[in-house]
Amino acid sequence: MNKNPSNTMALAPNTSNKRETVCIFGTGDFGRALGHKMIQCGYSVVYGSRSTQISNLIPKDAEVLSHAEAAQKAAVIIIAIQRQHYNFLVPLAEVLHGKVLVDISNNLKLNQYPESNAEYLAQLLPGSKVVKAFNTVSAWALQSGTLDASRQVFVCGDDAEAKQMVMNIVRALGLTPLDKGSLLAAQEVENYPLQLFPMWKFPIFLSLGLAVFFFFYCLALDVIYTYIYEKNNFSFFIAITIPNKVCPVMALILLALVYLPGIFAAIIQLYRGTKYSRFPDWLDKWMLCRKQLGLIALAFASLHVVFTLITPMRAFESWSTSNRIISQALNNITEPLNNTDAWLSDSYLALGILGFFFFVLLGITSLPSVSNNVNWREFRFVQSKLGYLALILCTAHTMVYGGKWFLSPSAYKWYLPDIYMLSLVIPCAVLVVKIVLILPCVDKPLTQIRQGWERNPKRSE
Ligand code: NAP
Repeated sequence: MNKNPSNTMALAPNTSNKRETVCIFGTGDFGRALGHKMIQCGYSVVYGSRSTQISNLIPKDAEVLSHAEAAQKAAVIIIAIQRQHYNFLVPLAEVLHGKVLVDISNNLKLNQYPESNAEYLAQLLPGSKVVKAFNTVSAWALQSGTLDASRQVFVCGDDAEAKQMVMNIVRALGLTPLDKGSLLAAQEVENYPLQLFPMWKFPIFLSLGLAVFFFFYCLALDVIYTYIYEKNNFSFFIAITIPNKVCPVMALILLALVYLPGIFAAIIQLYRGTKYSRFPDWLDKWMLCRKQLGLIALAFASLHVVFTLITPMRAFESWSTSNRIISQALNNITEPLNNTDAWLSDSYLALGILGFFFFVLLGITSLPSVSNNVNWREFRFVQSKLGYLALILCTAHTMVYGGKWFLSPSAYKWYLPDIYMLSLVIPCAVLVVKIVLILPCVDKPLTQIRQGWERNPKRSE
């Protein structure tokens, strides 16, 4: 069997506390922070700098020499210098020959140069072995020890042995190396720290767009319509009533949008009779941002809970309650308890509470610290089975709330349905198709396709 050298090395315990000497070019923020961490982990550090004067900022046990002298002392040299200064390395080509040069640099813009900084360094010094690493770790995180969120260090390079040496250093610093392949991957690795929430863009824009649409829809029906036809000024609805209608609607629609791409994927697989042809790009992208959609949905659901809890504190609520009581007293009417209404109201609240509970459970299991501690089957059970249960409960919650008004003409101001009716369209469609998909006559071929069976297998010539 072919043994993976990286695994063998990772498992080999390091018996001595003292490790090899590592050279760092540049005594700037990153060079100092990395040097400090390396010394803590048992490495000897020698800096190559334009000035060999020791300053208070430089780690106590480190040596500071000229670049050429420092390079001779170590096999691995970390280049903690901006790309625009790399030219100064060219005269040092001889002394750097055969050495492992670690490029840690980042740029200010995505794809700022035609080639990555690491490839540029490799072109300048063809006799050296260039490895890209550490660029996603910040000097501040190294210094303060707050590396929990960024333990992963992407490593790439063309020389397997050089890459392995760098990965061993990464591990020794308590970080996790992730092999990204050859130096061709360096551009992607350099772009990584420059991306601004790439997975969140579509979910955020979609949520903002929908929320704005529903807000103005409610404004038109609940404030403007009432003002025009009933001469009531309910403009204060903008603060709580309308947001408390928009939030649950958004939560329900976004939760349904988490499960809709899975439904599309199943239909496509059934139609094509194989799982080996690629989904359309839009579906791939949609599937990748399901977690973000779900978390935004949870945020809307949480806001709905808070808005609902503060409802009794509102002046409008106490006014309408006392108004009803006074008018009953003046007209000498006593309303008997309507058992159906009591049932509807209690079921509505119970479904909402249970739906929210499962919603929160989904959110918690999507946290990396939790999802890393459950196996794939457990994760799927929570995200798929309990997720659908949350969708069913939240859909039922909305249906019970609005059910009795569906056929009432007063619910259609300007012939438009209320937003809770609109909010039910996607969830109901998802649930109905899902029920069809789990019927044995559909589920069986779908499961077979997902296990690799093909209706029209391509034969190799
Ligand atoms: P910095 O504080 O400005 O330090 C850069 C160092 O480069 C200087 O201290 C200097 O060291 C050396 N240098 C400057 N001009 C030079 C020249 N003309 N010729 C030779 N050496 C020169 O920058 P930094 O924050 O440490 O960043 C260094 C590299 O690490 C950058 O490529 C950056 O993208 C990358 N990086 C930084 C961080 C971070 O959090 N700071 C995170 C990831 C990656 P001497 O005075 O000792 O010669």
